[in-house]
Amino acid sequence: MGRRTIVVGGGLAGLAAAARLADAGADVALFERADAVGGVAGTVAKSGFRFERGPNTILAGSAAFRRVVDELGLSTRLERADPTAKARYLWHRGKLRALPMSPPQLLSTDLLSWKAKRELLSEPFRGFVPPQDGEPEPTFGAFLDERLGRETSRLFAGAFVRGIHAAELDELGARSAFPRLWDLAASHGSLVRGALSRVFAEKESLPGPELPRSALVSFPNGLQELVDAFARQLGGRIRNGAGVEGLERIDARWLVRTRDGLGHVADDVVLTLPAPAAARILAHELSPEDLAALRAVRHASVTTIGLGFAPGALEALPRGFGYLVPPAEDGRTAPAPRALGTIFVTNLFPNRAPGGARSVASFYRGSDVDGLDDSALASLARQDLELAIGSSVPPAVAVHVERWTEVIPRHSPGHADRVRHVRAALRQRAPGLHLAGAWVGGVSVEQVLTSGRAAADDVLRGGEERT
Ligand SMILES: Cc1cc2nc3c(=O)[nH]c(=O)nc-3n(C[C@H](O)[C@H](O)[C@H](O)COP(=O)(O)OP(=O)(O)OC[C@H]3O[C@@H](n4cnc5c(N)ncnc54)[C@H](O)[C@@H]3O)c2cc1C
Repeated sequence: MGRRTIVVGGGLAGLAAAARLADAGADVALFERADAVGGVAGTVAKSGFRFERGPNTILAGSAAFRRVVDELGLSTRLERADPTAKARYLWHRGKLRALPMSPPQLLSTDLLSWKAKRELLSEPFRGFVPPQDGEPEPTFGAFLDERLGRETSRLFAGAFVRGIHAAELDELGARSAFPRLWDLAASHGSLVRGALSRVFAEKESLPGPELPRSALVSFPNGLQELVDAFARQLGGRIRNGAGVEGLERIDARWLVRTRDGLGHVADDVVLTLPAPAAARILAHELSPEDLAALRAVRHASVTTIGLGFAPGALEALPRGFGYLVPPAEDGRTAPAPRALGTIFVTNLFPNRAPGGARSVASFYRGSDVDGLDDSALASLARQDLELAIGSSVPPAVAVHVERWTEVIPRHSPGHADRVRHVRAALRQRAPGLHLAGAWVGGVSVEQVLTSGRAAADDVLRGGEERT
């Protein structure tokens, strides 16, 4: 009898793992609790608009993403976001300000004081010394305050981190949340020197169309195209509505119990669930200490509100990607958008709205909009937009709301060690159990695809070693 793998969770991590196993000719099934795969990724069509449920854009230089797209035969479907909509805005002292996009712009911007610019300029000459073994990992905030100076760190990185992680700088661990940035600073003794080394480093070639690595991409019908292509490839290997409730080790195999009371036998199991769901399933496989490490992984809840407007309704919308709102650290008293950030979707992809109509997508921390119904959320997002662009905005003609609970893992200080710890424990106590997903390898689409593929490779390698 051949070896069988069950992948639990049909988000992008699970889909990438299952697709790689299927490609390698392995016997694989994917169990997804919901009635469709994709997890937070997917696109909803409403009144001629296309709203993303979660992720909107991917960097064209994302290697795993480009390989997956190529393997799925989707390279010709890649759509580049309009390069003229590059400007990014920051809510600063009561209005939107364009973010500096180059070193000369950074030095000439009046968003930063001269003291802040001096601190920035001195960064390459102040050697970075990572903490010794056993010393606690600094927060991303402390790391950047020391490297770039507090003003730059809080204003720029503070806004960026809220937009991507729905977290504050001091809630994230520098090495855990941004391992590549950390490694650059550690190996070059400076963030700036490390970043420069990357600019001049030779880049691996990527399959598909020639695109600048910093370009943003998606597909004409949104990221649903990626999810659908995975689903087509996996076909009958996907079982929707198959929530996994427990795992049991029986001899050298795993019994995977689903919500309907059935048990399914597998040699390998790849768990791609958010950490709290993984902790519930692994309750009997880990020691109390290891389980506590897993339970310590918190996830942020995020609500996304997509608004579609009639043609001509958003004349005052600036050209550009969208805006971010930095933390209100300086005792800000003037009203500010409650959103973490807003993407000006049709500036990037005009075809996401019918005939000249426009759309935007705003992101809120779940706890900031608790208890609001869809119509209150639509009003809030419209008011935030009015405040941001300084012009009245008519009610939206189409609205799409997604309330994601415990969805963006918090890579807090010590997170990377906790993941290592849990993985080592599983290797020892639960051979054949593999982990992937946003809390394991990072939150971006590129990172979850990478972690899914890596878990599949582990399964394939393990299978070879055991036969
Ligand atoms: C609002 C938002 C915007 C984002 N924007 C971007 C972006 O623009 N660019 C970018 O690169 N990244 C973005 N991200 C991050 C990225 O999209 C996610 O981190 C990634 O898609 C998560 O994939 P995943 O497979 O790890 O998890 P998920 O997508 O959460 O998938 C987990 C799956 O497991 C299933 N599941 C849960 N419990 C069980 C169970 N017991 N049994 C079976 N199945 C179960 C769930 O139903 C779900 O389908 C965004 C994330 C969010 C939330």
